[in-house]
Amino acid sequence: MARCLIGCGSNLGKRREQLDRAVELLRFMPGVALVAVSRFRETRPVGGPVGQDAYLNGACLIETDLPPEDVLGMLAAVENTLHRERLERWGERTIDLDLLLYEDLVVETAELTVPHPRMATRRFVLEPSVEIAGDLTIPTASCTVRDLLDNISVSHPLVAVVGVPGSGAHEVAEAVADATLSRLVRAPVPLPAALPPGSAAWSQTLSSWARPLAAAGWHDEPHGAIADFWLDSLAVAAADELPRESLARLEAELDAVARTTIQPHVAILLVADAATLEERVAFSCRQADRWSNVFADVTRSGVAVCTAPDVAVATLMRMQERLVERLRSREARSPRAPKAVVVVPADDLGRATAEATAAVEAML
Ligand code: ATP
Ligand code: CA
Ligand code: CA
Repeated sequence: MARCLIGCGSNLGKRREQLDRAVELLRFMPGVALVAVSRFRETRPVGGPVGQDAYLNGACLIETDLPPEDVLGMLAAVENTLHRERLERWGERTIDLDLLLYEDLVVETAELTVPHPRMATRRFVLEPSVEIAGDLTIPTASCTVRDLLDNISVSHPLVAVVGVPGSGAHEVAEAVADATLSRLVRAPVPLPAALPPGSAAWSQTLSSWARPLAAAGWHDEPHGAIADFWLDSLAVAAADELPRESLARLEAELDAVARTTIQPHVAILLVADAATLEERVAFSCRQADRWSNVFADVTRSGVAVCTAPDVAVATLMRMQERLVERLRSREARSPRAPKAVVVVPADDLGRATAEATAAVEAML
């Protein structure tokens, strides 16, 4: 039998009745045992079209012998019974049932992502979940549900918007800081350009990036802070440039420097597809009209490259893969990776900003 954590919400019609009915339908589902149901609490809508009514949110814990896809199918069946309609993203709904956790399984298919990809910053999900299942493990973050709630409950959270040059990390960080009244912390200098092996430029960049995160005072910000960089990105970018020995040295330095700074509580990970990066690289080439400036106006934290755009794009895609691993893989996760990582597609920056803003607002 597998334990599954289910998030429930409603903000249209008779909210409590619908939630109660959803729970009853789950209770009598073949192959399902209902273990616990949280209290329901009223929460303000986050991220969707304006003018929606408040939500009632809760969570339930079930045990089942159904595989994850069938649990999702079963939840959809309950939603259909309760007349759930999908008209617009994050629009109002009679009932919403999300599969948050399925034991410590990681599932990533077109229809299903488990753990639920946006749960880690959602107070309306984590509070009822902790009430009934605080000790369950989040396999992608090696922590518990309770740890996730504690993580977003610090008084001055630091959110890092993380992405390769061309992903739009700077633009998104700036827009989210603006929308959420957070203080913006910028990478003070760009990533170093392709350098001679063993160059000290990486270390210099590392210490200059660490400085604003160590500076006293920023953590007094009433609304927390948003950084447009993550220190570990330096090691990721250097992996292509430095010989193994120098890279090991840089990693050790990173480890030491990072202990003198605030670590991000949340990473918004911008993931771009190759076509998007190619388009942005080509665009900035036209603007800059010389290869050495290829990324300069794609993002402030640009890497200068002296290669053709397709090579640049291949490099960026490789960097992005390593960044994803550092933040999310069970094996290669950085010890400094934030507990909460929200992946946001970077192809449309307006939408990326909306997603990232919703992820930050959900913490409040
Ligand atoms: P959010 O996912 O941000 O909470 P939502 O609940 O409003 O938003 P829906 O319209 O209910 O989103 O779901 C969209 C699709 O998400 C579903 O059709 C489903 O296939 C997919 N999905 C992927 N992973 C999950 C999951 N863990 N739980 C529920 N649905 C999921
Ligand atoms: Ca949902
Ligand atoms: Ca849903």
